[in-house]
Amino acid sequence: MYHLMKKTSNLPAALQRCFLSNAPKAAIPNPDIKYTELFINNEFVKATSGKTFKTLNPANGEIIAQVQKGNSVDVNNAVEAAQEAFKLGSPWRTMDASKRGVLLNKLADLMERDIVYLASLESLDNGKPYKVSLSHDVPGSINALRYYAGWADKNHGKVTPIDGNYFAYTRHEPVGVCGQIIPWNVPLLMLSWKFGPALAMGNTIVLKPAEQTPLTALYIANLVKEAGFPPGVINIVPGDGLITGKAIVDHLGVDKIAFTGSTEAGKLIAEGAAKTNLKRITLELGGKSPNIIFNDIDIDQAVQGAHYGLFYNMGQCCCAGSRTFVQESIYDEFVEKSAKLAEKRIVGNQFDPNTDQGPQVDQEQLTKILSLIESGKQQGAQLVTGGSRVGDKGYFVQPTVFANVKDDMKIAKEEIFGPVQQILKFKDFDEVISRANNTDYGLAAAVFSKNIDTVNKVVQSVRAGTVWVNCYNVFGAQVPFGGFKMSGLGREMGEYGLQPYTEVKTVIVTTPQKNN
Ligand code: ADP
Repeated sequence: MYHLMKKTSNLPAALQRCFLSNAPKAAIPNPDIKYTELFINNEFVKATSGKTFKTLNPANGEIIAQVQKGNSVDVNNAVEAAQEAFKLGSPWRTMDASKRGVLLNKLADLMERDIVYLASLESLDNGKPYKVSLSHDVPGSINALRYYAGWADKNHGKVTPIDGNYFAYTRHEPVGVCGQIIPWNVPLLMLSWKFGPALAMGNTIVLKPAEQTPLTALYIANLVKEAGFPPGVINIVPGDGLITGKAIVDHLGVDKIAFTGSTEAGKLIAEGAAKTNLKRITLELGGKSPNIIFNDIDIDQAVQGAHYGLFYNMGQCCCAGSRTFVQESIYDEFVEKSAKLAEKRIVGNQFDPNTDQGPQVDQEQLTKILSLIESGKQQGAQLVTGGSRVGDKGYFVQPTVFANVKDDMKIAKEEIFGPVQQILKFKDFDEVISRANNTDYGLAAAVFSKNIDTVNKVVQSVRAGTVWVNCYNVFGAQVPFGGFKMSGLGREMGEYGLQPYTEVKTVIVTTPQKNN
């Protein structure tokens, strides 16, 4: 039996810390698909249109299951259930805040119980290596729910010393029905990042998973019921972005949208929310994050960091360090070492314990990545390694490294969302900061340097929501995540992540007399 701790010993420390126990946890490569229907009012139901869509195994393109496809009628049913659950006097609205925390912890317990099944299902549907689902995605999701479970009875208002004979205080109230639209790259994690703060603050939910990866969300639906959430508090409607997603965005009964996905879709969502009922929105969108490597660093550590910052999750991360800026005196050595490391990556089936890199999520992503690689070659970047599809079945791409990348090339400007590293050369600090900031995005950035002044200057100069120093892709339920500029609006996670799920109500009461 494959022992997880041993086989994941090559994962960075931040991932290894995510382990919940040391028990051997072999994958279930063919997990039973138990739930494929919409989840409304704590019941699994068929789509009213009778339509379904296929979800595929990205390793071979074969159909895993047919999933019920929600449309605007189904979304309406789900919103009505969520509104009913949010009504004054409902079991959810009258529940003690601390009890909401207990329910969130119960859901986390059930996920922990079913961790092998969930990790297997996530890997089957998304293609990511099982060892990563098991060590990162599922534990990270459980951590997020537990973190927000603790907040359920702690996000309180203030008593304020208003002028005059009045007593003033604020209440933190839930926003209402929250539409949550999530992507396919880290499906379960995105679900938890959205469920946690919404439920802790007492909102109700209509969630749409991505069409490529609906299965773990539907399994969670079953756990929601088992945990004891009242009917209608959580509803899940799979379907297309432009139909099901848009129906959620346009619905007048929805009070808030939380979205993670592309900047193009984010703009449409902001427009839809504004045109209908001015829904509150949080958007976590694309990126083209700079990773700046100065020549005072231990080069092997920086090569590793940059490699992990780009290739993690098959490069399918909005915060991927997809512009690696390297100072000129170490540039050639850095490129050579990066290529060697990329060549060592084992590409293969997501359930093979030796696999570092599984398939991309679907044919569309494969085609897009290969076409961007082609554009890099045509625009004169130096292809140092990789550059092609692997095999002719499934959606595998060779780990690819480009050197001599110029700022105006397509591969330096557009989000590739694949295992393709761009290494750019820079001379000095001012130049690299100006180039790093010369992008519409601002999700993340990193700096590798041993000089405290250099580090502090970078931290203060880059316009990005997260800056990693001598590390990359380190996340925690306790720290906020989100973007500057066109990488998004608002923050998720940490204490800041509670704000978008809270309305602040000011209460002013006349008092006969004020005594200080
Ligand atoms: P990607 O390009 O990575 O697939 P998308 O932004 O298209 O990312 O998709 C992320 C999520 O947003 C998915 O659940 C998708 O169905 C949904 N979506 C896409 N377009 C829209 C839209 N216009 N309105 C609402 N949801 C959308």
